Amino acid sequence: MGANDAGSSTGLLLELARVIGQHPNLAGKIELVFFDGEEAYDHFSETDGLYGSRYFARQLQGSSAKQFRGGILFDMVGDRSLDVTLPADSPAEIARNIFAAAETLKLRSYFTYLDREMIDDHSPLNAIGIPTIDVIDFDYPSWHTAGDTIDKISAESLQIVGSVALYYLSEFALK
Ligand SMILES: [Zn+2]
Repeated sequence: MGANDAGSSTGLLLELARVIGQHPNLAGKIELVFFDGEEAYDHFSETDGLYGSRYFARQLQGSSAKQFRGGILFDMVGDRSLDVTLPADSPAEIARNIFAAAETLKLRSYFTYLDREMIDDHSPLNAIGIPTIDVIDFDYPSWHTAGDTIDKISAESLQIVGSVALYYLSEFALK
């Protein structure tokens, strides 16, 4: 239960809901989903962790997965010292366009690649054929400590991630 992991992404989704709601054409093409139960009780395995996203993916499996072209997962996006680290196994086209969106908004320096893959809530969606990117800043010293408090995160970081995501959605993914 932390400010960045995972309060930040919830805050970002709430604000995205407000902004997207002002653009009906965009709003009609986007579904906001809040996943609970990401953490593993013991360690990540086939049966432990990612409870909410696994449930969501199970409901969609088969033909209803086709209604989604792709997905963006936000996780730990509030760090004051923002370094978004897209996992190495990110869907290539989405990653390319996220970088391009960031470039256009002159925010490219906040986005880089992680040197490895991640198990996170994007994994069950990729597994059922919905290419989903994990927008995560995994470089966060207070991760999973009692020090993950609101003074470590900033509204500006949420603004950066939200702006890039919205630009990506409106100018690339849903154009
Ligand atoms: Zn966590």
